[in-house]
Amino acid sequence: MRSSLLELLAPSVCPACDVPRRPGTARLCGRCRVQLAPLRELRGVRTALACDGTGARLVQRFKFEGRRDALGILIEPLVERVRELHVDSIVPVPRHRQRVRELGADPVYELARALARRVKLPLRQDVLLRTRPTRPQTGLPPRERRTNIAGSFAARPGALRGRRALLLDDVITTGATLSAAAAELRRSAGPRAVVPLALAGTPTLPSAGWPAL
Ligand SMILES: [Zn+2]
Repeated sequence: MRSSLLELLAPSVCPACDVPRRPGTARLCGRCRVQLAPLRELRGVRTALACDGTGARLVQRFKFEGRRDALGILIEPLVERVRELHVDSIVPVPRHRQRVRELGADPVYELARALARRVKLPLRQDVLLRTRPTRPQTGLPPRERRTNIAGSFAARPGALRGRRALLLDDVITTGATLSAAAAELRRSAGPRAVVPLALAGTPTLPSAGWPAL
């Protein structure tokens, strides 16, 4: 009774295309489900999904529209990957607080928090800091991305204490941000202490249509 009332007030829709869904059916519609492509690696970095088709639409909706239903779908392939990787904590790639203020959100942190709750691992925000704001990576050529991000992270010495942490980012294109964050954390915690993983990989450099983040 209560669930049918909820359906009337907030009808279920497919999180990727908004087509109405009947209660009790899978949230993602059949058409979107077949366009959700797994991607295990991009340029040597572990990933969970390809950022195109349904993956790109879900990322867009979660990241720029704050859609929790899209986050709910995106979490699932990450959960599978985390279970293979034998980590004992989750560290989000940090964003500088000035950027978080400008955007009004920190999607990587939101993703890491939801994932940590789901897999029952501690979320560690205190081990890696963003020391200066950087220009948005979108639209920069690969070499400039590396220069832009260089030296913008600082790891807290001894914070991981021999543990093995998952370092999580949302979408990678060249992997420059995640690589720089992983290098800084490894410098402090050791090479085997950090397992980088991105939610989604964009196989080609994004077009100008992507919002800058
Ligand atoms: Zn759909």
